[in-house]
Amino acid sequence: MPIRAPLIVTVGHVDHGKTKILDKIRQSRVQSKEAGGITQHIGASFIPIKVIKNICGDFLSKIGANKITIPGLLMIDTPGHEAFTSLRERGGSIADLAILVIDVTQGLQPQTVESIQILKQFKVPFVIAANKIDLISGWKPYPNSSFLNSFSKQSEFTKELLNMRLMEIIGAISEFGFESERFDKIKDFTKQIAIIPTSALTGEGIIELLAILTGLSQKYLENNLKIEVSGPGKGTILEVKEEKGLGKTIDVIVYDGTIKKKDTVIIAGINKPIVTKIKALLKPKPLQEIREKSKFEIVDSVSAAAGIKIAAPNLDEVIPGMPLMVINEENIKDAEKEIQKSVKKVIFETDDEGITVKADSIGSLEALIGLLKRKNIPVRKAGIGDVNKSDILSVKNNPDHLKVIFGFNVKSKEEDKDVKIFISKIVYKLIEDYEQWKNELVEKKKKEEIEKLTKPAKIRILPGYIFRQSKPAVVGVEILKGTLTKNVRLINTSGKIVGLVKEIQDKGESLQNAQKGLKVAISIEGASVGKNIYEDQELFVNIPESDYKKVKNKLHPFLDEEFKELYKKVAEIKRKQNIVWEK
Ligand code: GDP
Repeated sequence: MPIRAPLIVTVGHVDHGKTKILDKIRQSRVQSKEAGGITQHIGASFIPIKVIKNICGDFLSKIGANKITIPGLLMIDTPGHEAFTSLRERGGSIADLAILVIDVTQGLQPQTVESIQILKQFKVPFVIAANKIDLISGWKPYPNSSFLNSFSKQSEFTKELLNMRLMEIIGAISEFGFESERFDKIKDFTKQIAIIPTSALTGEGIIELLAILTGLSQKYLENNLKIEVSGPGKGTILEVKEEKGLGKTIDVIVYDGTIKKKDTVIIAGINKPIVTKIKALLKPKPLQEIREKSKFEIVDSVSAAAGIKIAAPNLDEVIPGMPLMVINEENIKDAEKEIQKSVKKVIFETDDEGITVKADSIGSLEALIGLLKRKNIPVRKAGIGDVNKSDILSVKNNPDHLKVIFGFNVKSKEEDKDVKIFISKIVYKLIEDYEQWKNELVEKKKKEEIEKLTKPAKIRILPGYIFRQSKPAVVGVEILKGTLTKNVRLINTSGKIVGLVKEIQDKGESLQNAQKGLKVAISIEGASVGKNIYEDQELFVNIPESDYKKVKNKLHPFLDEEFKELYKKVAEIKRKQNIVWEK
């Protein structure tokens, strides 16, 4: 069986050098003119093995990659998980290998972490380009040299600085359950992730990066790369684009078989599959011919692995990340069922409690759902496209912290006072913003609940300050502890209710409450001096059992000591009256 080129993607945090590394790899043909160039595909660049051998020299055999049968590497041109997630296939990915780019001076950043989690979720092996080594203090650049050659010429101090940075990366990566090591110290490439120090600016280390990608693909992925060239073409939609004179077109990465002009293809859709007939297969024209009328060259067929543009009718509903397959017109029905299966797992709606997530492509939706699962954020509905009215309705019956919609790379014109809509182009931003919002919500709710609790107080009736005996009794009191509020019942130390506080006054002025230390006049409905209250008597504010339970079970950590002490004291008193009162 023939072997296709592995598909390689580049992921990592913004500004860590993903684009520049891809550029540098593409430029490397300059160094190897006679070996034939790197060919441009739609959405990808193909680096023939001849070019790689030419650039890497004997380094390939040094890492044990002697017999090479792969035709080259197909590098996906768009870095980041935007393109990566479009390469999904039934919970996995058609990407064979990834380069995780980490700025060596910055280490792991939020999008690095996110990339690792997504690679893990989609089960894609990866190498790490520890990029920007030229920024290490004292680094002397040797443009386009191998890393090992350049490293050997650096001062001991600079070497040590780089090693320290690499150690930090190794440590941070291990937290995700991955063992990693500088490529030249690796004993077993199946157990350890190779770190290749690079500079996309000076080109140092690019040789080794290419060699390791080639060696790993050859040694460990060979079986995945076997294809049936004459079999039906299979691919995934990278992008949907309007092209002048062609209408809607789709950019497709073909990973198996052959696609020919006039073939009938089936593409998974949001609701139902799309069946169409290929009008034209288009490749980019070589650079020197670009001034001609069209940017594209028409071809009759294309075999895996390749990036190709397809012009065909009926492409309006196609979205990125959907699988595409050449079919025989006779078994359309079976193919329709089969291809739609892979969509149903990602686009769904359940009756469970959970948020609603919307994304622009099926792959990003799948990645987002995976990350949410990891964070224990439940999802009730997942769909493609802008946030709409039915999305709002879908979360309305949730508890407040789940009346939430996430929109990844989509828009929302909807607004609703009860529903919180988070929109972002960065997944971790969505989760981070949500968690912050949720914490604030919890905090607010807690404050409201605390506000609703009966405020406890211990007071003493001041001798000589009986203003009225009863109906209602009006007496002077001192607030010994806590805060006395209006409309609370007072109990004596045996737990008997003596009356209801109707009024609090200080120097003739009405107060809503009185704090510890204050001496005020209060009126107590139902109390009668000499009968159930007395001068110099200590009284407590009565606490409802339900408030006591709330404090005990939930709000305890957020209350001050005096508050808790008074609640405890009142509970003890209440139990004298009622032995089953909450313990
Ligand atoms: P991306 O967001 O990951 O694609 O990052 P870019 O490739 O756009 O690079 C971000 C910035 O870092 C640009 O200004 C690059 O020129 C710079 N850069 C990338 N790689 C290197 C490197 O190896 N060394 C230095 N000094 N700068 C780099």
